[in-house]
Amino acid sequence: MPSPLFHAATGYFLGKYLPRNIIPRSYQFHRFDFNILYPVLIATCADFDFIPQILTGTGFHRGISHSLIFTLGFSLIVAGIASKIWKISYQKLLRFTLILYSSHLILDFFAEGRGIKLFLPFLDQFFKSPILLFPGIHYSKGLFDRSHFIPILYELLLSAVLYNLLTQWQAYQAHKAAKSAIKNNIHSHPQLHSQKSIKSSDSSF
Ligand SMILES: [Zn+2]
Repeated sequence: MPSPLFHAATGYFLGKYLPRNIIPRSYQFHRFDFNILYPVLIATCADFDFIPQILTGTGFHRGISHSLIFTLGFSLIVAGIASKIWKISYQKLLRFTLILYSSHLILDFFAEGRGIKLFLPFLDQFFKSPILLFPGIHYSKGLFDRSHFIPILYELLLSAVLYNLLTQWQAYQAHKAAKSAIKNNIHSHPQLHSQKSIKSSDSSF
């Protein structure tokens, strides 16, 4: 399974780089603000099931918190509370929360390990992709075991590559938007443009 760090990084990327029409409009993304914590927390929180696992000693991890029904119920409730606090569209926040929470299930589904119990409480069975994208981190060996080094390094490199690609993509989109805004401005004010051209041709004499 990916480490909680990679789930958090995924939440950060989704909060920062998803198209603006998917992120609720009045949801401002600020670096050291609670608004960055929302996507990071929602994308990570499925793994908080290690707490009842420690408390009860039963195999709770990757259980109900990694199921589709929990994803829906959790998103409905959390988006409801958050939309009241931020006074923003419940529908948009629900969609955003569903994307964030589902990102966790998708990453775990493509990771080495037992898989996830997607259809709990109806079907008590682990599911995982036949194609694996993430090496597993085996916490049963301890929190700071040397075997974690390669998977963590892989996740760090992947995060760096993704950050680079997404930043470049965002810069390209901003450049494209600025170019089309200038073009539209010229089309909507042709007289202004022609006056400017006349002035510039006058000044050239
Ligand atoms: Zn997980």
